[in-house]
Amino acid sequence: MAYLVAANWKMNKTNAESLEYVNIFKELYKEYLPNIEVMIAPSFTALEAVGLALNNTTIKLGAQNMYFEEKGAFTGEVSPVMLKELNVEYVILGHSERRHIFGEKDEIVNKKVLSTIKHGLRPIICVGETLEERELGKTLSVVERQIRAAISGIEREVYLVDIAYEPVWAIGTGVNATPEQAQEVHKFIRELLNSVSRGNDKNTRIIYGGSVNEKNARELIKEKDIEGFLVGTASLYPEKFYKIITECLEV
Ligand code: PEP
Repeated sequence: MAYLVAANWKMNKTNAESLEYVNIFKELYKEYLPNIEVMIAPSFTALEAVGLALNNTTIKLGAQNMYFEEKGAFTGEVSPVMLKELNVEYVILGHSERRHIFGEKDEIVNKKVLSTIKHGLRPIICVGETLEERELGKTLSVVERQIRAAISGIEREVYLVDIAYEPVWAIGTGVNATPEQAQEVHKFIRELLNSVSRGNDKNTRIIYGGSVNEKNARELIKEKDIEGFLVGTASLYPEKFYKIITECLEV
């Protein structure tokens, strides 16, 4: 399975700014890089324009969130049907900002995961511990709880999802997990997925997120169970994002 390197722009970039970025990025990413899948998740308002600009490229389009219902009285929400129509392929779910700022619980993340699968979208399920949980030695139990809850009902179809391990204390802080810290959790996740899916986890990428940049990407990707990145801050700059992608070549 190819590595997955994904840009999460969060609530950044207007439509015009998004298009400006894509034009620069397409100039950099002219040549298909083997064994690396690239995805960009702009804001909802830029999805259509970015999707059109990515037509005829290998770059995939992603959404940063989604509601689990198809339509109805859910003011402010966006449905899987709406995303499919715009050629979205990936949906980031359970991001720590969704969990901690907007109070999204495991049960809701699970409903969203089931809905993406039903509609042929591929979820990137984000999990990760807070600093307090890490200091209390709860990292692995928190990650296990979040994963078991998120994939409840599709345990044997886990190849339909990707997992992003994103320690909350490393997101947007400039403090990344060390390669060893990340590898320990990625290995644990791989074993967990393998066991709950009874071996059906080969196409599930486990990617790392948390202050990944063009300087630390190489050391992180060398770890056996790190299979790509979810990048926030550094992905806002086309040159930095492209450099992170090339750091994943031939490791
Ligand atoms: C993220 O929000 O998914 C993320 C990893 O952000 P950053 O790269 O800024 O830490």
